[in-house]
Amino acid sequence: MYDTIIIGGGASGLLSACELKGKNLLLESKDRVGKKILVTGNGRCNLSNSNLTGEEYSDPQFFRAVQEKYSSNLLDFWKEKGLFLREGGAGRVYPFSNQASTVLDVLRFGARKAEIKTNCIVKSVKKDKGGYAVLTSDGEYYSKRVMLTCGGGNLEIAKSLNLRLTDTYPALCALKTDTNKLKGLDGVRAHAKVSLEIDGKVEYVESGEVLFRKYGVSGIAVFNASLKYARALRDKKCKRAILTLDLLDGLEDKEVETVLSTRIKRGDDNLLTGIISNKIGQAVLDDFTNAQEIVKNLRSIKLNVLGLLDDNAQITVGGVRLDEVKPSLESKTYDGLYLCGEVLDQDGLCGGYNLHWAFLSALVASQDINQKI
Ligand SMILES: Cc1cc2nc3c(=O)[nH]c(=O)nc-3n(C[C@H](O)[C@H](O)[C@H](O)COP(=O)(O)OP(=O)(O)OC[C@H]3O[C@@H](n4cnc5c(N)ncnc54)[C@H](O)[C@@H]3O)c2cc1C
Repeated sequence: MYDTIIIGGGASGLLSACELKGKNLLLESKDRVGKKILVTGNGRCNLSNSNLTGEEYSDPQFFRAVQEKYSSNLLDFWKEKGLFLREGGAGRVYPFSNQASTVLDVLRFGARKAEIKTNCIVKSVKKDKGGYAVLTSDGEYYSKRVMLTCGGGNLEIAKSLNLRLTDTYPALCALKTDTNKLKGLDGVRAHAKVSLEIDGKVEYVESGEVLFRKYGVSGIAVFNASLKYARALRDKKCKRAILTLDLLDGLEDKEVETVLSTRIKRGDDNLLTGIISNKIGQAVLDDFTNAQEIVKNLRSIKLNVLGLLDDNAQITVGGVRLDEVKPSLESKTYDGLYLCGEVLDQDGLCGGYNLHWAFLSALVASQDINQKI
């Protein structure tokens, strides 16, 4: 009988294995633990954000309730673990080495006192006398407590416990849109102000890089818009979504109009040369005759949003409902069952907020368990 069985050796599972007292077992379905950590932040692992307010999360109130349970600061925690940090733009926190493998090394070193079984798929969990029985591809294991840290993609274990779930959607990903205005632009990048309108209301605005694709649009500025769209779908509050691109973001109307008027008078062919990429100009410019109309058009390229692109999604929106757990992350129904990280219906914007949540929730749950041992 183990003290705690940790299901899933990702960000929150590994941190729990570092922190938990007692005799613990970590079960991971893949051949190695922490594989996803290695690809986060383009291989640099953006593990937190120093500008964090709580508003970046789908449920800020619940995030703060969990945060209050942890008396210290997550960045200080990493320093205590010997992980040196550096700050990139917009408050993004990375390991000083700029390599995600450093974060995984620190976690694996901390977790060495736990027993780890890889290639072990957990199928279900059930309450057993005095604790839990965990059914896996490798047989059954028993423990006094269980931590469900299996990420957002797998809700089967939560279902086996009859926990209440929301619908789930991929997010922080590319958006499928109608493509008639994007012909020939696959692979072209542009700077744009991106606005997402849901059922007539502007829900998100961000300036940044947009990458045009055959199926729609991708790029950093689109990722956060995809999160707002996925949240609206989860809440069943989205009949119609429109993405508007302002391709002249950062320029004054007047300065562009002056150049365009001169070119129109001269009869130039490539009106937009030197302003935006010729390829984009050709794709989006209709038969406009005056400079004001062209500027207005370039500021409001409208694309109907048709869906979320699963392939490159960084997170899952939705999961086990937050009202299933206390701020200590313990289940309200099952004593000794804890849920951490992405398996819960809590998600954050791009910028280190999702790993921060995975780590913070694991710390708070481990702390609660340690107090009871
Ligand atoms: C390409 C990419 C880049 C990202 N970049 C960032 C970033 O820079 N910053 C940021 O904050 N977030 C980033 N994220 C999101 C972040 O990685 C996740 O939010 C975070 O890893 C969630 O942690 P978790 O512990 O809840 O789940 P995970 O890290 O997904 O871990 C879950 C683990 O459980 C295992 N598992 C699942 N089912 C079972 C089962 N039945 N039995 C046994 N084991 C199981 C999985 O194999 C996995 O190892 C990125 C995600 C991706 C995909």
